[in-house]
Amino acid sequence: MHAFDYVKPNSLEQVGELLAQAQEDVRILAGGTELLLQIERGEVKPALVLDIKGLPDLDFVRFDYEQGLTIGATTTVTDLMRNHDVRKHYPLLAQACSIMATEQIRNRATVGGNVCSGFVFSDFAPVLMCYDAVCHLWGPRGQRAMRIEDFCREGARLSLAQDELLVSVQVPTPWAESWGDYQKLRPGQGAHFALAAAAVFACRVEETLTDWRVAVTAVAPYPQRLPEVEKLLDDGQMTEALLQHVAERVSETVAPVPDPRAGITYRKAMAGIMVARGVQNVTAYLLGGRH
Ligand SMILES: Cc1cc2nc3c(=O)[nH]c(=O)nc-3n(C[C@H](O)[C@H](O)[C@H](O)COP(=O)(O)OP(=O)(O)OC[C@H]3O[C@@H](n4cnc5c(N)ncnc54)[C@H](O)[C@@H]3O)c2cc1C
Repeated sequence: MHAFDYVKPNSLEQVGELLAQAQEDVRILAGGTELLLQIERGEVKPALVLDIKGLPDLDFVRFDYEQGLTIGATTTVTDLMRNHDVRKHYPLLAQACSIMATEQIRNRATVGGNVCSGFVFSDFAPVLMCYDAVCHLWGPRGQRAMRIEDFCREGARLSLAQDELLVSVQVPTPWAESWGDYQKLRPGQGAHFALAAAAVFACRVEETLTDWRVAVTAVAPYPQRLPEVEKLLDDGQMTEALLQHVAERVSETVAPVPDPRAGITYRKAMAGIMVARGVQNVTAYLLGGRH
């Protein structure tokens, strides 16, 4: 395994200084479920690894109606999943946590690590996109915010300046009458990445479902929202024909990267089916079976 220096900073300021001074490749270590494997496989060869897991400023989950949910970057998936406010106000997020990887991985893996990994199969990115989440980045020169879609499109390595790190993800409070569903196709239970997955979210205003949000993962080079599909749902009447049309548009739109576990044609078709199932489940929940 490639040898590297390891430092466990005591403060964000120290992280910023070490990142800013770095002449060679420096990597942030959070849960390490991905980075350590990458180092072991020789895919990345950092000179220095900065372990941020113990920083208290980054390990928290807070909720209030005005700010919504703020998730510190080193919050583990398990802690997020068990959080009362997450279960109550963000059931789609809790659902995605519960089917991510295995219990052992969830106990180590952090939300920040998932978002920053640029992972093609990320279960969090599409869900956070449906909630219109914002990434908060910190560096010695100050803090800035970036919509999660933009952050994922660039990938953390490009979105972050050399001396920056992700400190939190902020998720607005959803409309009271809203619901979301996460559909994940994988070859079996447990530690399998998605072959195709979709997060679907909508709000109910009187008898109408509106503000549809659809995001996919594992079927494109990065997780992404599908605004054209969202518009079809916002503008259309919920019928079998619309569902069929939505599934077809999703299949045509996505562009999976090759994966030895399943062919591209199959994954494109399944992406459409994942979205259609999500739409059906959201509709059934919000309209109480009247669909
Ligand atoms: C067996 C197995 C199964 C898995 N299954 C799934 C799955 O089903 N779904 C899924 O989405 N993922 C899955 N993963 C991937 C992985 O566990 C997640 O992406 C995890 O959330 C990464 O978090 P971490 O804290 O371990 O990140 P780390 O490995 O510590 O870091 C990952 C990357 O993010 C960077 N980074 C971490 N934190 C920050 C920060 N705050 N600021 C800037 N950069 C940062 C690191 O430098 C590194 O490049 C799986 C992994 C394994 C090994």
